Amino acid sequence: MKTIVKGMEGVQEAAEIIKNGGLVAFPTETVYGLGGNALDPEASRKIYAAKGRPSDNPLIVHVSCIAEVDPLVSVLPESAEKLMETFWPGPLTIILPKSEIVPYETTGGLETVAIRCPENRVTLSFIKASGLPIAGPSANTSGKPSPTEATHVLHDLNGKIDMILDDGPVGIGVESTIIDMSGEVPTLLRPGAVTVEELSEALGRTVEIDPAIVAGGVNEGIHPKAPGMKYRHYAPNAKMALVTTKFLKKRDYEVSEEERLQADRLISDYINELVKKDEESGLRTGIICCDETKDLYDMSQTGASYVKIIGHRNEPLSMTHELFRVLREFDDDKVDRIYAESYSDRGVGFALMNRMRKAAGMTELLADEK
Ligand code: AMP
Ligand code: MG
Repeated sequence: MKTIVKGMEGVQEAAEIIKNGGLVAFPTETVYGLGGNALDPEASRKIYAAKGRPSDNPLIVHVSCIAEVDPLVSVLPESAEKLMETFWPGPLTIILPKSEIVPYETTGGLETVAIRCPENRVTLSFIKASGLPIAGPSANTSGKPSPTEATHVLHDLNGKIDMILDDGPVGIGVESTIIDMSGEVPTLLRPGAVTVEELSEALGRTVEIDPAIVAGGVNEGIHPKAPGMKYRHYAPNAKMALVTTKFLKKRDYEVSEEERLQADRLISDYINELVKKDEESGLRTGIICCDETKDLYDMSQTGASYVKIIGHRNEPLSMTHELFRVLREFDDDKVDRIYAESYSDRGVGFALMNRMRKAAGMTELLADEK
C-alpha cells in the first residue's frame, strides 16, 4: 500500500486512484469505509476480494449531495427525498430501486441500491473530486469489528488496498442506519445513530422493523432483507456472552433506581463468578461494563485479566463510540472469554445492543436464572 494521508491533503490523489479503478479507505462519521468506483464492476470485485466478503452482500454507494442520487435510481419517491433532506449528510443509508448504470456486482445481484451521503469533510471532498459515486462497505476484514480508526484499517487491509485517508477516530463508531424505501412500507433493516423514532417522525408514519434485527432474529431462522445481517459479524476472537436479568428484559429497562441497583448487583455477581471459574481453569477473561458499574468489577478480587469501560449507560453514543475499538483491543489482549453487561434497547441503544448481540453470536445469560 502506498500511503496513509492525514486530513485534506490526500484528497486529490485518492480521487485519481478511484478514477483509475483502485481502492481507497475513507473516514466517515460512522466507521471507516473501503471505497471504489461504484459504477465499475471490477472495482466492486476488488472490494469483495480485499475484505474477503461474500459477493451476495451488497455495498453501500456514497454520494456527496442529494443531486447525485438521481442517476443511480429508477424511482425517487418524495418520502425518500424527505429523509435525505432531513438526515444527510449523516448516518442514514436509504435503499431504492437501482438504475441501469449501477452494476449487479455493486448491489450483490439485487435490483435495489443502498445510498448514503456521509458527514465528513475529507470524504465529501474526495467524492466530489473523483466525480463518481463511491461503493464503500466498512473497511475491515469481513466478520471482524468495523474499523473506527485508520490503524484498524491498516491492521486488516495492509497490502490489499491503495491508500488510506486518515481523519482520526470516527465519532459514532457503529455503521449507518439502513432504511428500505423501495417498497410500500418503509422498513428498518439495520439500526444506527438515526433512530426508528426519528425516521417515523420525519416520514409521518410508522416504520416497520425487519424481524431479523430484533433480538435472536437470524438465529431463529428469519431471513434478513439486508443480506449482510445474516453473517457472523463484529466478532472478536474470544467467545463473548451478554449478561442480563429476566426482569430487565421484561421491563425493557424502565426500572426504578432501586431495581436498577439490584439488577447491577445480580449481573456483576454472576459475571464475577463466571470470570473466577474461567480464570481458575486457565482461561483469560475480559469484562465489558459502563462507568456507572465499574466499581462492581474489582480485578484484584475476581482475577479478570481485563475490565473495560465502554462509556455512560445513559448516553448510548458514548458506548457506540468505544465498542468496536474495545472488541479489537480484546483481540490484541488475547482473551478467551468476554462477559458484557446488557444495556437498554431504547433510542441509539438499539444500535448498540444489535452490534453487541451479534458480537456475542446472540449468546445471552440470565443472572437471575443461573
Ligand atoms: P457495510 O457497508 O459493511 O456497512 O455493509 C453494508 C450493509 O448494507 C450490509 O448489511 C448490506 O447487506 C446492506 N445493503 C446494502 N445494499 C443493500 C440492498 N440493496 N438491500 C438491502 N441491504 C443492503
Ligand atoms: Mg461491514
